[in-house]
Amino acid sequence: MGEKKKKIIKSIKIDVEKCNGCRACEVICSAFHATPKYSSNNPGRSRIRVIREPLRDVYLPVYAGEYAPAECMGRDKYVIDGKEYDECGFCRASCPSRDIFKEPDSGLPLKCDMCEDDPAQEKPLCVQWCINDALIYEEREEEVEEEVKLEDVEIGLESMIDKYGLEKVMDTVSRMSASKKG
Ligand code: SF4
Ligand code: SF4
Repeated sequence: MGEKKKKIIKSIKIDVEKCNGCRACEVICSAFHATPKYSSNNPGRSRIRVIREPLRDVYLPVYAGEYAPAECMGRDKYVIDGKEYDECGFCRASCPSRDIFKEPDSGLPLKCDMCEDDPAQEKPLCVQWCINDALIYEEREEEVEEEVKLEDVEIGLESMIDKYGLEKVMDTVSRMSASKKG
């Protein structure tokens, strides 16, 4: 058992009624995650995407969550306040069946990092840029077990293995470590 530690849990609540599809959240997120920072704004790099269907008045902001190596079976429809939504529309996964939440150059999965930086943003940038208050930032304190977080490293590795094959990834890693030693 690890040590108990207090941790701030950050979350963003979405009020779809207030979103008008302006996409300011996508612009700032992709600019912040460009290399160098703020050098470009390709929505493909954004960790938040807005599903827009103006004719049906559907604007649905969705955050990039966990990576999924396989396509799921979910094809249900949801009707909320008279508007029909595809199940995929709510899904936060970077998955093989669609193009969102994949880094445009490498194809690696993207995940919202709540704008972790050094120092961290006082409020996530998408929340700050949403002038319609559709994104609401919340913090709460929780006691958690302290642990080494390898999750993100594993997700990146797993998706590279899916894309290039285990042998190729292992070969590259061993060449990289050999060149670091030498
Ligand atoms: S900035 Fe706000 S209103 Fe504009 S698309 Fe994003 S969530 Fe919707
Ligand atoms: S919280 Fe930060 S990283 Fe996450 S979607 Fe918003 S701007 Fe992007």
